[in-house]
Amino acid sequence: MVNTERYSAIAQQLAESNVTLVAVSKMKPAADIQSLYDLGQRDFGENYVQELVDKQAQLPTDIRWHFIGHLQTNKVKHIAPFVHLVHGVDSQRLLAELSRQAVKAGRVIDVLLQVHIAQEETKFGLDEEELVAALDTAPALPGVAVLGLMGMASFSENKEQVRGEFRRLKQLRDAHADRAGSGLPILSMGMSDDHVIAIEEGSTMVRVGSLLFGRR
Ligand SMILES: *Cc1c(COP(=O)(O)O)cnc(C)c1O
Repeated sequence: MVNTERYSAIAQQLAESNVTLVAVSKMKPAADIQSLYDLGQRDFGENYVQELVDKQAQLPTDIRWHFIGHLQTNKVKHIAPFVHLVHGVDSQRLLAELSRQAVKAGRVIDVLLQVHIAQEETKFGLDEEELVAALDTAPALPGVAVLGLMGMASFSENKEQVRGEFRRLKQLRDAHADRAGSGLPILSMGMSDDHVIAIEEGSTMVRVGSLLFGRR
C-alpha cells in the first residue's frame, strides 16, 4: 500500500533540505507509481531492466527514471534511450558500454560511480583505487557524464558504523571531486532505514522504497 501521507511529509522535508527523493518502486505496480506521480513525484528508481522498460512504456513520459540496481553490460541498450541517471556503475567495462550505447542513442547518460563502503562482502562497488581509475578514464568517453558517487551502508543496527560509512563516501567525493569536470555534485546515499543519518552526513539524493510503497 502506498502511504501518501508519509510521502507528502518526507517529500516536503527533503525539498526543504535540497535533497532529491528517488522513490524506489521496484516490484510495485504501475498504479502505485501513478499515485505518487499525481502528488508531484517525478524521480523513480528501479532495479531490474525488464521491469523498468515495461513501466516506462506505461507511465507518463516526464518521469525521470533512475536505474539503481546492478546493471549487466548486455542489458544497457534497453534503457540507454531514456534512463535519467544510472546509480550503480561499478566497473570500467560498464562505463564504456554505457557511453557506447548513449552515443548510439544520440545522447549523454548521467551516471554515478558506486563505491564499496559497507563491511559486507556482498555489496557491489569500487574501492578507492578503482574509483580513481574510473574517474580518470571517464573524460575519454563521450557518452557518459559522471555526476557523483553512490554507496550503500552496512545493513546494521549499529548507527555509528552506518554513519562512518556514509562519512567515508563523502570524504572520497571531496578528495576526488576535481578529477571530474562535474565536480561530483551528487552523493546518492540513504534508504528507508538510514536516510536520516545519510542526510546528516551530506547526502544530496536518497533512494527510499519501503517507507513509501510498503514492504516488498
Ligand atoms: C531497493 C533499494 C533501495 C530502497 O530500499 P528501501 O529499504 O525499500 O528503502 C535503495 N537503494 C537500492 C540500491 C535498492 O536496491
